[in-house]
Amino acid sequence: MNIKKSIALFGLIIVFISCATNPFTGKKTMAFVSNAQLFPASFAQYNQVKSENKVVTGTKDAEMIKRVGQRIAVAAERWLNANGNQGYLKDYKWEYSLIESEQVNAWCMPGGKIAFYTGILPIAANETGVAAIMGHEVAHALANHGQQRMSAAYLQQGLALAGNVALANDPKSRNIFNQSYGVVSNVGGMLPFSRSHETQADEIGLRLMALAGYNPDEASELWKRMKAKSGGQAPPEFMSTHPSNDTRIANLKQWAPAAKQEAAKFGVTEFRPIN
Ligand SMILES: [Zn+2]
Repeated sequence: MNIKKSIALFGLIIVFISCATNPFTGKKTMAFVSNAQLFPASFAQYNQVKSENKVVTGTKDAEMIKRVGQRIAVAAERWLNANGNQGYLKDYKWEYSLIESEQVNAWCMPGGKIAFYTGILPIAANETGVAAIMGHEVAHALANHGQQRMSAAYLQQGLALAGNVALANDPKSRNIFNQSYGVVSNVGGMLPFSRSHETQADEIGLRLMALAGYNPDEASELWKRMKAKSGGQAPPEFMSTHPSNDTRIANLKQWAPAAKQEAAKFGVTEFRPIN
């Protein structure tokens, strides 16, 4: 057996033993890259984005982003604790930044590093719209969608990441991180997730926003506004990676009652006014 094959086999074994059930999706997913390896790279990337952009602080909008983010984070924590997953977020270092930019964009890097661009606020339209976007983006991180993409890249390239290599210091791993998150070609942007990951993030995001006290009925309204905005010329980054088609809007409408039921289990039966 040549070295490359051995490495690939080693990789498969690692994947086999590190398949874990994700509490949010209930599905077994590849956890080829551990949070301990991934988060330092993510945090470094986040700091770079902040240093290269104007971060808005002290305004009403900046405060709102922080407030919504904190509520979504608390919702995730409550949900995990109630479902026997205490400690799942222990390595998260939540941070919520509003970036001054016309870009219509928002994302959450692994470990809870969130960015909203001022350009997405008119489409969010109100705090509940922000909560819908926040819930969705945080859901991608909680469901380890980026990690799954990284794991697939490791497999494709026949690479194995040694047990305790710090990702940030390993050039090959850093390369895969960059490819998986799209941070080289488009600093701060995110590559499109697969359709099934989008659907998962929509469903988890609805639950999070409801549990955080935001009316999940508004999520479909948000994506209607996205759809209206993306018509015409080339859609902005966020909308090209998050196509707001009729199926998505119909799904969100259909799932909203279940999200409300879930929130009710936690005593959340009334939602904040839409403003
Ligand atoms: Zn998404």
